[in-house]
Amino acid sequence: MARPSNFPPPFSARDYVTEPTDPADERIEVGVLVVGAGPAGLACAIRLGQLLEEHPEIAERLGEVPVAVLEKGKQPGSHLLSGAVVDPRALRRLFGERLRMEDLPSFGPVPGESVYVLTRRAALPIPPPPPMRNHGNWIFSLSQLGRFLAERAEEAGAMILPETAAQKLLVSHGRVMGVRTGDKGRSREGGELGNFEAGSDLVAKVTVLAEGTQGHLTGVALDRFGLRGVEPQVWELAVKEVWRVAKPLDRVIHTMGWPLRTGKRYREFGGSFIYPMGEDMVTIGLVVGLDYRDASLSVHDLLQELKTHPKIRKILAGGERVEWGAKTIPSGGFHSLPRELHAPGLLLCGDGVGMVNVPRLKGVHYAIESGRLAAEAAFRALQRGETPASSLSSYDDAVRDSFIWSDLYEVRNMRQVFGRGFFVGGTLAGAMTMSKGRVELGKMRAEPDADQPLLVTDRAATYPKPDGKLTFDKLSSVFASGNKTRDDQPNHIRIERRVPREVAQLWEHMCPAQVYEIGREDEDGTVLVELAPSNCVQCGAITAKGGRLTPPEGGSGPEYSAT
Ligand SMILES: Cc1cc2nc3c(=O)[nH]c(=O)nc-3n(C[C@H](O)[C@H](O)[C@H](O)COP(=O)(O)OP(=O)(O)OC[C@H]3O[C@@H](n4cnc5c(N)ncnc54)[C@H](O)[C@@H]3O)c2cc1C
Ligand code: SF4
Repeated sequence: MARPSNFPPPFSARDYVTEPTDPADERIEVGVLVVGAGPAGLACAIRLGQLLEEHPEIAERLGEVPVAVLEKGKQPGSHLLSGAVVDPRALRRLFGERLRMEDLPSFGPVPGESVYVLTRRAALPIPPPPPMRNHGNWIFSLSQLGRFLAERAEEAGAMILPETAAQKLLVSHGRVMGVRTGDKGRSREGGELGNFEAGSDLVAKVTVLAEGTQGHLTGVALDRFGLRGVEPQVWELAVKEVWRVAKPLDRVIHTMGWPLRTGKRYREFGGSFIYPMGEDMVTIGLVVGLDYRDASLSVHDLLQELKTHPKIRKILAGGERVEWGAKTIPSGGFHSLPRELHAPGLLLCGDGVGMVNVPRLKGVHYAIESGRLAAEAAFRALQRGETPASSLSSYDDAVRDSFIWSDLYEVRNMRQVFGRGFFVGGTLAGAMTMSKGRVELGKMRAEPDADQPLLVTDRAATYPKPDGKLTFDKLSSVFASGNKTRDDQPNHIRIERRVPREVAQLWEHMCPAQVYEIGREDEDGTVLVELAPSNCVQCGAITAKGGRLTPPEGGSGPEYSAT
């Protein structure tokens, strides 16, 4: 049986590590460089601003730009997609007396909740299991929260550079010096177009990688500094839609079961979320573990199928889809965290290193807390005038003492147990939850998603036909993501182009944005995979399943505004 990992992509982390190449007087120097304007990176920039305001002499020492934040999306928020029911602990700590939860752009506290086990026609309500209880949490659009946090970061003195992808890690004498940004204005073949702009070296005293899921330079740094965790990282793929609806939804809903299959051989783990966004909007999403085996599984099409369930159709009746998006979620948990969260001159935060509580489907508060702690560690090192090469380990200590560590420890095997099938996994997960993580299941092995042997079923034959009202095809979904990527730019997806048919089928069905198409078959039975990279919404699934996503030209990809 074919496994995607037997066909590795033409990609080497070494190609993305370089000494600074611009002449010294042409490099852009900043104090602290943050890569990624998500909740982790923006919390880091905000906390640094607060500390520098209290200590203007340090700000002075950091030069003209004490804090800079790079963001590859068109603007902060353009690439942010989440549920997002947020545990407010970290936001409260970040803002303290400065802002109340009511001052943030939210849809208010969770009004109530229901959990259902679905079959094709029925919905069986069950009492919400402890991880799915959301009393006291607040509902947001992460894209909107990101824009708000970016404004606060700018007010606090940070320079935000949107449409700028960090492409390479600058390392000199074993110390991270900053990043090199990607070129703009190259043709499909790599030549320089009329509007060509070369990337630049941005050098900093401390670099904070807050790139989120499948972070490109985070992966490069983990390899370069030998930081990968004991267990490999694994991911889930989430596809979600935002709907304007006729009737307000009065609670958050989670579902399990249909349209996923419970048989162990399929390894289908996941569920859906349906959250109200004020009086007239609802978000609905489906999350599926990427260790699934059926090459004909498409999370995009399963979400379309889910919407045809009588219970869900009723919620959306008379409404219209206003936005669509997709993103992966790191789900290996505690044992997949890197061995260390720092290297000389470098700090690693948020989803990039897998700080997600999978049974609770929550990572925003860990991202914010880790960004805040990274800011404090960077500031301490700068304040003492220490060389950041050796003094950033206090960040690891702070994370280990925080709720990030204790929460993730409590649910440490939660994702792995579902590799044993839905029912055995559910029982073990229940035992861990009831004992608050005290039941010792030992360290359970996580297999890389791309190592799963593939099988092919006729699952795709039952996906609903798109009607353009309730159910949609992938290309109209890409349109609803706001993606306007220039289609003559260089290909940013690295895959082995000639593979067995099952592997090509896997990629074709998996990609929610219709990037892969099966082309010519050769005499040896392998097929050529054709690519339409400009459709890509940078969800990251291909990196989990045998290829490698690299950042395209800055400003490309989706332009989310309500996800
Ligand atoms: C569908 C879905 C539902 C979820 N639901 C919830 C929920 O209800 N509650 C919850 O708490 N969590 C939820 N999560 C998880 C949560 O969204 C993440 O844990 C959180 O967003 C992580 O924040 P981050 O800052 O680490 O990364 P991100 O939010 O991914 O932000 C990273 C930013 O960095 C930018 N970036 C990345 N690489 C580069 C680069 N090389 N150069 C420049 N910019 C770069 C990206 O464009 C992005 O803007 C959900 C996730 C998904 C996908
Ligand atoms: S090409 Fe890969 S990263 Fe891009 S949308 Fe498709 S699966 Fe996601």
